[in-house]
Amino acid sequence: MIPAVLPTYNRAPLTFERGEGAWLVSDDGRRYLDLGAGIAVNALGHANPQLTEALTAQAHKVWHLSNLYRIPEQERLAEMLVDRTFADTVFFTNSGTEAAELAVKMARKHWHDAGRPDRTRILTFEGAFHGRSSAAIAAAGSEKMTKGFGPLLPGFTQLAWGDHEALDRAIREPDVGAVMIEPIQGEGGIRPLPDVCLKGLRDLCDQTGVLMILDEVQCGMGRTGRLFAHEWAGVTPDIMMVAKGIGGGFPLGAVLATEKAAAAMTAGTHGSTYGGNPLACAVGAKVMEIVADDAFLSEVRRKGALFRQGLEGLVASHPNLFEGVRGSGLMLGLRCKVVPADVVKAGYAEGLLTVPAADNVVRLLPPLNIPDADIAEAVRRLDAAASALNAA
Ligand SMILES: *Cc1c(COP(=O)(O)O)cnc(C)c1O
Repeated sequence: MIPAVLPTYNRAPLTFERGEGAWLVSDDGRRYLDLGAGIAVNALGHANPQLTEALTAQAHKVWHLSNLYRIPEQERLAEMLVDRTFADTVFFTNSGTEAAELAVKMARKHWHDAGRPDRTRILTFEGAFHGRSSAAIAAAGSEKMTKGFGPLLPGFTQLAWGDHEALDRAIREPDVGAVMIEPIQGEGGIRPLPDVCLKGLRDLCDQTGVLMILDEVQCGMGRTGRLFAHEWAGVTPDIMMVAKGIGGGFPLGAVLATEKAAAAMTAGTHGSTYGGNPLACAVGAKVMEIVADDAFLSEVRRKGALFRQGLEGLVASHPNLFEGVRGSGLMLGLRCKVVPADVVKAGYAEGLLTVPAADNVVRLLPPLNIPDADIAEAVRRLDAAASALNAA
């Protein structure tokens, strides 16, 4: 018999009752150090008092307002994002996949209104993940996500990761209107796009007029030690998708864009009942206030370096299990020589939560404010999990 909850997830037999900072407490009272943070969502830890205060203060005022009216919390968060990024304008969604939907629509509408309705094709990359909506699975294109769900939304071409020649050829095709890429692939296995490649891609986009859409749903909002990962390369996109960390655990996403890329999205061309609601935006503004701060971001970089150093030591102690560490800031991946799911499972036994990804990687995405002592504890528990795996 089908369970009451549609069984689309392979869930671990763990039930958590509450959280505090980088820790989750299960219903049997065990404490788990959470290096998954809801997959880069709980950017400021569980039950963060500042976020709880922002949420409850708003809850006492008004929960929901239709976008038929002005929403001051939404305007405030949009202004904070515009002030701090390349963007001139922001649309709020409730998730990453909704941001992908709008990014695709915005790129196509841009070319439509520019008198080039043929430029509908969007280039994407193998290993990508942009969410689970029909547009997002067509964009990523992997068999795992698309099989059985056809006919897929047309107009996407997936290119091999790192194949510069194929990109150089494809981007000059006359029907290409945009390219969509994660500066660091998350689900794809913490695969960073080298800064020089992102710069090269920007040059190609400038030469061809192709819009650059960056998916910073996982790598954005301070995760790499800059507010957005593309800042490391010193280039800016035309359109950017944001979600996960921006709500600190409250559902919130956004599409940021330049005026030029967004100008065709006039009244009536897009909408969302819940997108940009007062609760989400009040929390998002508090997250922005904390994360978009140079001292905070510099701490993320320092903590990232500290964690990475510990992980390099772990790899050196268990060369039969691990191949290396990759990623940036507190978006780190342990490349495994064994099945990543086994490492994750061994972690559970040590009271440690990690997340598997593609390309034989275990993801480590702790809260951005994880205390140094918890980083040291994380390395100790990973080492204990590795030793148990070796003994098995
Ligand atoms: C999680 C994720 C998404 C999808 O976000 P949802 O909120 O699950 O819809 C899109 N892109 C990237 C890079 C992600 O990590």
